[in-house]
This record gives sequence, structure tokens and C-alpha cells, in this order.
Amino acid sequence: MKKITQFILTMTITSLIIVILFPTQTSAKSTLEFTDEEKAFIQSTNQDQALKIGIIPHTFPLSDCPPDSDGYVGINVEMLKLISQKTGLQFEYGRIPIENETPYQSLINNEFTFVAGTIRLESFMKNPNLILSQRFCDGSSICIALKNTNPKDAKTNKVAVMSGYQAGMDFSKTKFPNHEVVFYRTNQDVMKAVRNGEVDCAMISRYVGIYELENPLNDKLIILAPYQTVVDSCIMGLNTQENTIAMSIINKALSDIGDEEYNHIQINFTITNPYDLTLYEFLYKYRYVIFVCTVGFTAFTYLLIKLFRTQKDKAILSKDSVTGAYSELGFELAVKKVLQKSHSSLFITVFDMSYFSSYNELHGKDKGDELLKKIVEIVCSFISEQDIICRSYADNFIVLSCKDNLESLIQEIKAANAFLNELLDSRMVFSFGIYQITDYSIPVSKMIDFASIAKKKIKGDADNYICVFNDELRKKNINDVKMLASFNKAIANKEFVAYYQPKFDVNTQKVIGAEALVRWILNDGTVIPPIQFIELFEKNGQIQRLDFYMLEQTCMFQKSLIENNIQPIPISINFSRVHLYNEDFVSHIKETVERFNIPKYLIEIECTETVMTYNTELSIEILGQLRELGFKIAMDDFGKAYSALNTLRSMPLDIVKLDSDFFNTSSIEEIKKSRKIIQAIVSLVHDLSLKLVAEGVETEKQYLFLKDIGCDYIQGYYFSKPLEEKVFLDLITKNRKD
Ligand code: C2E
Ligand code: CA
Ligand code: CA
Repeated sequence: MKKITQFILTMTITSLIIVILFPTQTSAKSTLEFTDEEKAFIQSTNQDQALKIGIIPHTFPLSDCPPDSDGYVGINVEMLKLISQKTGLQFEYGRIPIENETPYQSLINNEFTFVAGTIRLESFMKNPNLILSQRFCDGSSICIALKNTNPKDAKTNKVAVMSGYQAGMDFSKTKFPNHEVVFYRTNQDVMKAVRNGEVDCAMISRYVGIYELENPLNDKLIILAPYQTVVDSCIMGLNTQENTIAMSIINKALSDIGDEEYNHIQINFTITNPYDLTLYEFLYKYRYVIFVCTVGFTAFTYLLIKLFRTQKDKAILSKDSVTGAYSELGFELAVKKVLQKSHSSLFITVFDMSYFSSYNELHGKDKGDELLKKIVEIVCSFISEQDIICRSYADNFIVLSCKDNLESLIQEIKAANAFLNELLDSRMVFSFGIYQITDYSIPVSKMIDFASIAKKKIKGDADNYICVFNDELRKKNINDVKMLASFNKAIANKEFVAYYQPKFDVNTQKVIGAEALVRWILNDGTVIPPIQFIELFEKNGQIQRLDFYMLEQTCMFQKSLIENNIQPIPISINFSRVHLYNEDFVSHIKETVERFNIPKYLIEIECTETVMTYNTELSIEILGQLRELGFKIAMDDFGKAYSALNTLRSMPLDIVKLDSDFFNTSSIEEIKKSRKIIQAIVSLVHDLSLKLVAEGVETEKQYLFLKDIGCDYIQGYYFSKPLEEKVFLDLITKNRKD
């Protein structure tokens, strides 16, 4: 029993607390009092006879019916809902067609019982056919114009108003009596007309205008405050008995709606309801941000792709596709990394083989590639794992080795060379240049240069195939730099002088021609032989100027002979391989010789056999053109390199110059072999209707042998060294007299 009393007490207290904390929401409807007639009317609307209310579209936040929904929104609609809630009246909403000129027309057309949101104009109030509700909500209007314009300084003399917005039209007439009122179907069209300058300004409902100004497309429009008007809007219907009852009910509800309730609705649709941007309006509003972001993103993407490509390119470029060794670029990067980490005994070795281009020519490119691969394989089997191997170009290889001392590196090279030589044909030899890294601050390319300088010193020497870069070579290198720097000055000061080495007829021993050979004679009389600078200038491209300088000197000499009635003889000029790639080579020679008015047969063009085999097709074309012009063509240093006998047949030639190396041997066995070869060459050259000049003939024995086998001409110290111009002139003058 006690428990039951306790339970009832607890329940009562709990119920009381609930009632105090959450009082039952009394409906707004219950506070209004209606007459019996009104109650009956309300009842009738509940029985499926809802009042038809016309809603004005395109006037958000007052009212709108968004095209993609059936719902009606806005302050007016919320007010109607509140009225319905307070009175029990049932409303059925419909959109007033924008084709209708005024909402009034909708009533006449019987489309709606009432229209919501019509302005309480005096004309309506006086019209006995109409009944109007009390103030419904704020219906004041504002004038909108483009910034920095004054509508009174009319440009178009037009003011825009939404059709049916009677108040707007009335205000326009009072404020702008000289303006024509132009009607637009929607408020959005009204704003657009102002934006586009179709009208000077627009009269628009205050709520709608303020809301539309939030549209970024309207960012150049402003409110012209002086034209603000204060009016009310209301519900309007035709003056019938039924409507009078309905309006009485509505008015009771409107009287009951306090400021607080109205403000709450208004705030919901204005301050707390920001402008609903369409996609286009959004893009327009944030156009600058979007532009900056797009540019930024594009730039970022571009850089990213570029970085990715550079990395990819670097990866591709860092390897040599033929041998799989590093490329020079990859090698330099890899060596830089090693240098950053370690300063132990490091060496750069550069090596290549003689006559690789001839090997390619003879055996084909595929065999050449195979040879290169094999070389890398062999070298890799000798060097240690952390050492780096690279093929920089053609048959040029570079290795970075870490060794205790120079001697152990030289031992390693010797061992590798023994294996490498097995791959080569008899005349080919490897040459190695070593630079011990002592200065870690210089670029890797410079280190490679130092090793290359050492290699060049012994290039092609089978007995002496390893050379270490030392102080002597360093001095030579400095000297080279000086020579390059003083080239222009030397040309201007005429320091380059042509010497002429005569060529003799084997049988008559008469001078039949000469070769122009350059000497660099310094101011103090020091003579620098060409061997010291030709290769350097070839590398630098300056050789082209030097060769043409020699051509001019020779032409001048020939001209002086002709002018002095001394019978001239053909003189040959050495042209470096660099010219082959100069498009103007042929025309330049022609122009020079013609400028001096020298017959073409008096000028011979000497090109080495290696040049001709290096790029056979191009040589045939260029030498062919020169020969067509009347110049004589000589193949220099024949037999020094790999002699591809085919070249003799295909090349447009007149003369073959036998290399002096054939006489450069003291072993009886080799002399015998050389003689046989020379004999064969003489008959081959004659078979091809060419002439043979033997170079470097130093002894009577050599001369007699050459005479014996039918060699045509001889050029060598046995007869004459290269001579100064004056001495040479004496020689040929005497030669004529004999
Ligand atoms: P080269 O064209 O083979 O010229 C022949 C070289 O052999 C000349 O050396 C000449 O003095 C030398 N010589 C001639 N007869 C004998 C001999 O009996 N015994 C010995 N030991 N040597 C002999 P030089 O004048 O020192 O020229 C060396 C090379 O420099 C030339 O070889 C040529 O390749 C190059 N050269 C010289 N002048 C020019 C030039 O104006 N332009 C170009 N591009 N190269 C040149
Ligand atoms: Ca020559
Ligand atoms: Ca020669």
C-alpha cells in the first residue's frame, strides 16, 4: 500500500515538472473569436473548398514558385500559412501567370479568389468592385541604377518596372515624369535591363531589390536612396459576399499577427537567407579567384609535368643505349655524388681506340656496336663495383676508379688492355689517359678534359698506351688556352706564314708542284710548328679561317708569279675535316680563287683519307663539286689509317699521297713488307688513272726504290724541306731555267 502511494506521488511530481517545463503549445487559432457565419465559412473551406490564392512569381523573398518545385516560398506565403494556422481557413496556392498585366486581371479571369501581395493603392481602395485586406506586409519600393550614374541625366529616358507592379509604375510616373515606363516580365529581367543600360533605372520592390543586389551579376548596381517609397501590400479579392466574410476572417488573423511574428518571418527570408547563387552567378562572383586558381593550377601542373619529364629525360639521358654504361651526363652526375661523399684516391681514366670509325666502315655499324658492348663487359670485369663506367661518344670511354694508388690503377689497365686487344684488328690500339683527382673543386668535365689531354699525347702508340696527366701537360693545356686566345691577333698581325714544300718528278727530279704548310712565327722569331696547334684549332673551329687564310696566301703567291711572268706550278692546300660540314665550303673556295683570278688547276685540295672514310657520301658530293669546278683533289696520308680501298675507287680524285709512315720503320722484315705494299699501291693507283705522291722520303734508298716501282712524284726532306716563300721562289725560278 505504502509502495502504491509512493508511486502515485512520484508520478504526480514528474507530471507537474513536465507541465511546467514543456507547457502544451496552444494553437494560435484558439485565441481568435469568430462569428457563427465565419465559423461556418471556415468549416466550408475545410470541406474541400479551399480558397484559391494567387501568388506573384519572381519576387523572392516576397514570393516565388521555383520552376523546379511545386512549392511556394517567400514572406507572403509564410504569412498566408500563419493566417491559415490562426483561422483554420484552407488555402490552395497558384502561380499568377506572368502574361497577366496585373494581378487584378487574375481576379477578373476568375483564376483566383484572392491575390496575395498586391500594393494597397488608393485606386484599388476606391474601387467598389474590390475588397482589400489590412496591411499584409511591407510593400515599399526602391529605385535602382548603375553606379556613378544619375538617372535624371537620362541616357535612355526609360525606367524599368515588372509588369503588374502597379506601385512601381505609379512611383515612376511621379519621380520620373519625363521617362517612359518599360515593363519586364520578371524582376530579374528588370535588373538585367538596368545592368545592360537598356533603361536609366528601375522601380522595384524593396525586398526584391535588396535581395537581387546580392546577385554578383548586379555588382555594378546601387540603390538610389532618395527614391525609396513606403507603402503596404495586402490581399485583394473581388467584392462578393463570400469574400467579405473570408476577408473579415483574414483581417482578424492579420490583427493578431504581432510585429514579433512578422519580423521572425521576414528575417528568415532576408538576413538569414543569403542569395541563392546559380552556377553561372557563382562562377561570375568568384571569377578572379577562379582565374587565379586556374592559372596557378595550370602553372603548377605544367611545372609538375616538366619536372616529371626532366626526371624521365635525365633517366634516359643518363644511360648509353648501346652499351648500358652511363652517358656523359649521367657520368658527371654520378661522379659529383661520389665527390660529395668521398675524397679518397680517385682517378678519371679516358680511353679510346685508334681507327674505330674505319672499323665501323669496314665491318658495319652493328659489328661496331657489338665491339663497344664487349669493351664495356671486359672493363666491368676488371673494375670494382663502386667504380663508374661511361661511354661518352663513339669509342670514347671514361671510368672513375677508386684505387689505393696510381700504380695499382696502371696494373689494372694493363691487365684489361691485354684482353681488350684480342677484340681488335691488327692496326688498332687502345690509348688511356689518366687524371688523378687532386682538385675536387673543378667541374667533372674539366677532369675529363685533363685525362683526355693525357690520352691525346700518346694516341695510336701501341708501345706507349697509358699516359698520366702531369704538370707538363698542364702547362701545354695552359699554352693551348693562350694560343686560342691569341688566334685573332695572330691572323691580323700576319703571324701565320705559308711555307712551301716542293714536290718532285721522280724521273726528271724537277719541281712539279708544292704543298702549302703553315708556320706560326711569333714576333720574337719563335716558329711554332702546325702539329702544336692544328688539332687545337680544329676542335675550336678556328681552323676554317686558318685554312682559307692559307688559300689566300697561296693565291697571292700564284698571282705574283703570273704577274712576274714566272710559270706557276700547282700548290696544294690542306683542308681540315671541319669544312665538310660547312655549307659554303665549295662556294667560298671558288670565290677566293676567282677573286685572285687564278686558274683552278693551280690549286689542289688535300683532304686526309680518314676524312673521306669518315663521311664518304658527303665527301664524294663536296669533292665532286670542287673537281667539277676544275680543282685537283688529293687524298692525303693514304695508308695511315685503315685503308678502305673502295674509297679510292668511289672518291673523285686526281692524286694519292702515300703516308710517310711507310718509311718509318727500321726492321728489315717490315721494310720488305712495306715495299710490297707500296708496290701494290702504285699499280692500284695507276690502274685507277691517278698519280701517286710519296711523302716523307728522306733517303736516296727510298727515292731509288720509288723510282724503280714507278711512283710519280716525291715530297720529302731528301729533296727539300718546306721552304720560306722567297726561297721557294728562287727554287722554282731556277727550276725553270734548268
Ligand atoms: P701533312 O699534310 O702530312 O704534311 C706533311 C708533313 O710532313 C709536314 O709537316 C712536312 O713538313 C712533313 N714532312 C715532309 N717531308 C718530310 C720528311 O722527309 N720527313 C719528315 N719527318 N717530315 C716530313 P708539318 O708542316 O709540320 O705539318 C704537319 C701537319 O700539319 C700536316 O701534315 C698537316 O696535316 C697539318 N698542316 C700543316 N699546315 C696546315 C694547314 O695550313 N691547314 C691544315 N688544315 N693542316 C695543316
Ligand atoms: Ca698534307
Ligand atoms: Ca700527309
